[in-house]
Amino acid sequence: MMTQYEKVLGGEITPAIRTAARRERVAPEQVRDELARGTAVLPFNPAHHALAPAVVGRAFTIKVNANIGRSTEKSSNETEIAKMHVALTAGTDFLMDLSVGPNLGELRRAMIVECPVPFGTVPIYEAFSRVGKNIEALSENVLLEVIREQAEQGVDFMTIHAGLLRSHIPLAFKRMMGIVSRGGALIAEWMVHHERENPFFSRWKEILDICHCYDVTISLGDGLRPGCLADASDEAQFAELDVLGTLVKSCREHGVQAMVEGPGHLPFNQIEMNMKRQQWVCDGAPFFVLGPVVTDIAPGYDHITSCIGATMAAYHGAALLCCVTPSEHLGLPTADEVKAGVMAYRIAAHAADVAKSLPGARARDDEMTRARKAFDWKKQFELAIDGETARQRYEQGRCHGEEEDSCSMCGKEFCAIRNSKSAATAKFMEVPDANLAAGSV
Ligand code: SF4
Repeated sequence: MMTQYEKVLGGEITPAIRTAARRERVAPEQVRDELARGTAVLPFNPAHHALAPAVVGRAFTIKVNANIGRSTEKSSNETEIAKMHVALTAGTDFLMDLSVGPNLGELRRAMIVECPVPFGTVPIYEAFSRVGKNIEALSENVLLEVIREQAEQGVDFMTIHAGLLRSHIPLAFKRMMGIVSRGGALIAEWMVHHERENPFFSRWKEILDICHCYDVTISLGDGLRPGCLADASDEAQFAELDVLGTLVKSCREHGVQAMVEGPGHLPFNQIEMNMKRQQWVCDGAPFFVLGPVVTDIAPGYDHITSCIGATMAAYHGAALLCCVTPSEHLGLPTADEVKAGVMAYRIAAHAADVAKSLPGARARDDEMTRARKAFDWKKQFELAIDGETARQRYEQGRCHGEEEDSCSMCGKEFCAIRNSKSAATAKFMEVPDANLAAGSV
């Protein structure tokens, strides 16, 4: 079977490409060409029948990924499936199931059947769960078996931590936080215990064969992503990134699509450099970033600390943003926290789309401006990223029964929009619609 990547190398425009291009409002040829260069990926496992394909790459709208999944301490299949629907309703573009524990195949099957967006996993979580969380019993063959089973089920993309090598472990020990990636820490533990090289790296060719067979996109995991500002942009992080760059090339040579995962925690002023370095080292492969979190001192608000970083990262080239929820560093997110994370990241993604002047990205902002100026509350709620919350806040602040040409923020007499429309000031304050459309205000 030819993969999506091999088809585009042959010049083919598949139905999945046409669907993705329509969504992006670009020509299918543009999607095909970006895919062929490897600067975009279109994760699409043919066994995932419910999927509406979406393309990820710097030339296209920034996408948002939501993580859900059972922990060993908390939650159930039903709760996580409910969270999946909350994330989808909130508008996530991608979804990853990070569940650990027993019977993960059953949960995943139920999710994939109902999931219309690209669906991802981290196979080492299931492999470690399958051997009773006993690192000694975790064999290379179990890892390959899990990857194959998940691919058969219809998983569209998988995080494979193949870039963290034995030689990197001493670098991680120099850090303040060490290794904070769950998958990275497990692989490091496995290498130390078995005194062998990373099995994802040593069995790489077989992993590529499986991913080629089922047309699974590889998301190259960043097992050494920095987990605090003090560890950002260090030797360990960039040593792993260099390996990821070579793995991107081998994915392409094998006809498999690849994207690369990235930090983590980064000071704001290091984000641009990190995005540019990844593009250079990984030959333009799409960058899938977690945040980055730009300060370590706001637990409880890490959807905000990370969104500040995500907006900057997206502006400088990241293509897929992994949601961080308010419970990051503190606990397994609830459904409400998953929603808060997705909403925060949709805002970050849209802000970057506008800043990058993507076709049509600003049109909705300008429509909102017109509705705001006209006190058309209904239209404002329709246009809002989270119209339900916007309506609730408006309703709770209203002093009078009917919708009005002001709100409780300033009150009628002090309403700046209302007053600026008065006859005395209109001629100075009126902003022609033509200016809005041209982007001059
Ligand atoms: S009252 Fe103030 S916040 Fe409310 S619509 Fe008028 S200017 Fe805007």
